[in-house]
Amino acid sequence: MSDHSVWMNLHNHSIYSDGDFTPEQIAAEASRGSLTHVAITDHFETAKVRRCLTADGLDDYIREIKSLNERYCGSLRVLAGVEIDTNPERCDLQRLPIDELNRLDLVLFEFVNDDWNGGSSLAEIAPLIDRIKVPCGLVHTDFARVFQGASPHDVAEMLASHDLFAEVNTASIYKRQGIPYYEQAERYYRAFHDKVRISIGTDAHRTLSEVSNLGQGYEFIDRLCAANDLIKIK
Ligand SMILES: [Zn+2]
Repeated sequence: MSDHSVWMNLHNHSIYSDGDFTPEQIAAEASRGSLTHVAITDHFETAKVRRCLTADGLDDYIREIKSLNERYCGSLRVLAGVEIDTNPERCDLQRLPIDELNRLDLVLFEFVNDDWNGGSSLAEIAPLIDRIKVPCGLVHTDFARVFQGASPHDVAEMLASHDLFAEVNTASIYKRQGIPYYEQAERYYRAFHDKVRISIGTDAHRTLSEVSNLGQGYEFIDRLCAANDLIKIK
């Protein structure tokens, strides 16, 4: 383990959507793995998955996740988040309950600018993002492909102007030609330095050890000397 004061995994799915483990089991694994921050980020109101979190269920979800903090006496922060699908055919983005989302610790957006997955453009969802007051981030984004018309500097400016963080997602499915999206986008992450915060997420669903398997993500951060760019969630 490298020497980091923050050891985070801000992207995990529980039984509230398509994951196999409870928030309690995920937090226990995070504690076992000496994480300082773990976020439960279930899919919200999307037809992409068979089971997802709904607006009606959000209150219980937040309460259950936040109550887990009491067990760890400050050694582990357990954060409540959701992942929002920006494909408007699967998720009614116009009807998202903004006030409720503002009670979360963070909100993740997937498939932004991603035509292959039918995601909305950053311009289309910017008004929505600007109404959400908790930290918002773009997750498992294939920057080198979906922002290919823009320079890394321009992408950094765009993300910074909406106070969006960018995730390093180490899940094995987010690869092109065998190379993780974040590796392909190294020049983008370098351009984020001092402008755009970075998060690390493993997108754990079915393997509990994935919750604490942060080596790959932190190796990338260390290679970029980007530890100071990691997001700090209060
Ligand atoms: Zn996810």
